[in-house]
Amino acid sequence: MSIKWRMTVWFTGMMLLMVALVLVFVFIVNKYSVTGDAKSRLIDVVEDNAEDLEFENGGFNWKRFDFYSHGVYCIACDKDGRILRGTLPFDYSGDLPFEVGAVRTISVGSDNYYVYDVYIDLELSGMWIRGVINSADSSGIAHVLTVLASSLLPSILAFSIAGGWLLGWGSFRPLTRINNAAESIVDGDDLSARINMKHGAREIRKLSQTFDAMFDRLEQSFIAQKQFTSDASHELRTPLTVILSECDRSHRKDTTPEDYQKTITSIENQAEKMSGLIDSLLDLTRLQQGTDRYPMSVCNLSAAVTDICEEFVPAQRRGISLKTDIEPDVNVRCNLRLMASCLQNLLQNAYKYGKENGHIRVSLSSHSDRVELKVNDDGIGISKEDQARIWQRFWQADTSRSVDYGSGLGLSYVHDIAQLHGGTASVSSTLGVGSTFTVTIPLNS
Ligand code: ADP
Repeated sequence: MSIKWRMTVWFTGMMLLMVALVLVFVFIVNKYSVTGDAKSRLIDVVEDNAEDLEFENGGFNWKRFDFYSHGVYCIACDKDGRILRGTLPFDYSGDLPFEVGAVRTISVGSDNYYVYDVYIDLELSGMWIRGVINSADSSGIAHVLTVLASSLLPSILAFSIAGGWLLGWGSFRPLTRINNAAESIVDGDDLSARINMKHGAREIRKLSQTFDAMFDRLEQSFIAQKQFTSDASHELRTPLTVILSECDRSHRKDTTPEDYQKTITSIENQAEKMSGLIDSLLDLTRLQQGTDRYPMSVCNLSAAVTDICEEFVPAQRRGISLKTDIEPDVNVRCNLRLMASCLQNLLQNAYKYGKENGHIRVSLSSHSDRVELKVNDDGIGISKEDQARIWQRFWQADTSRSVDYGSGLGLSYVHDIAQLHGGTASVSSTLGVGSTFTVTIPLNS
C-alpha cells in the first residue's frame, strides 16, 4: 500500500473514531438530560403562567397566559376541574385528579406524558392550572446537539478525508517525477535527465535538488570513466602496435642477427613504456578511488625534499643542473610517500621539458598558513591555453609529444596528491621561457 493511501486510511480511521466517540458522548448526555430538561420546562411554564395570570375588572386577563410554550401544553380549570381555557395534546379521558407540587407520569397510547398542577387560591373561588408535556419532548438543547452532531460530524469527516487525500496526492506527486527521472537513468538511456523542480513543497524541492546534484555527479563520473577507458586503451594500443609490427618483421626470412637485436631492444622499450603506463594508471586509480590507505603524519618535509633532490636520477640529464633552496625543518602533516611521488613527477617533467644545459630550481618554504613546494625550469614552457589542460589525464601538448617517454598522467597524479592533502597544484609558465609548478599544502591539513 502506498504512503498516500496509508496516510488517508490512518486519518480516516482516527476521524471515524473521533466522530464515533463524540456521537456516543452526545447520545449519553441526551439520554440523561432529556428527561430532566422536559420536567424542568414543564414546571417553569406552569409556574410562570400561575404568576402571570391576573384578575382584572371582574375577569381574567389571558393575554400573558401561555397555552403552549416550549413543548408544554397548559389548561386552566375551575376548582371542580372543568376546563375554562386551553387544550391538551391528547384526548385524555382518564381520571387524573389535580395534585399540587408533584410531577406525575401518565400513559396515553404508546406515549408517556408528565403532568404538573398548580392551584391559584382566589377569594371567592380557586383555579387549577395544569401543564402537560411529552416525556420524550425533543425541543431541548440536548436534542439540538444530537441533530447537529449527527449531521455536521459526518460532513466534517467526509471533508477531512477528501482534504487529506488531496493533500497527500498533491504532496507525493513530485515524488513520481523524481522516480521517473531516476528510472530513466537506471535504464541507462538518458544520463542527462533531471527533475528540475522549481515549484512545490520546500522539502520535496530540496530532495529533488539533491537528486539533481547526484545525477550531475553520476553523469560526470560516467563520462570520465568512458573517457578514461578510451584514453587508456588508445595509449596501450600504440606500444602494442609497435611490438606486433616488430614481431612481424622478425619473421622475415632475411632477418639478420643485428635485426633481431634491434627488434628485441624495441620490444623491450615498448614493454617498459606499457609497464610505466600501467603503473601510473594504477597509482592514479588507487588515489582517486581511495582503494589504498595513505596515513598522514607530521613529517620533516625539508629533509625529505633534500634527499629526493640529491638522489633523483632523471631518464636523461641533458646537461641540466639542479639547485635547491629549502627552508630547514619545515614540518607539515602529509603522506611522505605521496609527496615524494609528487616531487619526482615534477622533477621528471622539468628534465624532460627543460632546455639543454638549462637549470632547475627546487624550493620549499613555509608561510603562516601553508607550505609551498616549487619546481622551476627554463625549458619549453606551456602556452596560456594549454595551462588549463595539463592537469587532465593523458593530455600532452603537441610540443612535448616529441619526447617519446611520457603518458600524460604525471600532472593528474600531482594534482590529486595535492588535493588529498587539502592543497592545490598550480602552474605559471611562459612559452619558450620556462615554467614554475607550485604545490601548496595547508599547515592544518
Ligand atoms: P607527460 O607524461 O606527458 O609528461 P604530464 O601529465 O606529466 O604527462 O604532463 C602533461 C603535459 O604537460 C606534458 O605532456 C607537457 O606537454 C606539459 N608539461 C608538463 N610539465 C612541463 C614542463 N615542466 N614544461 C613544459 N611543459 C610541461
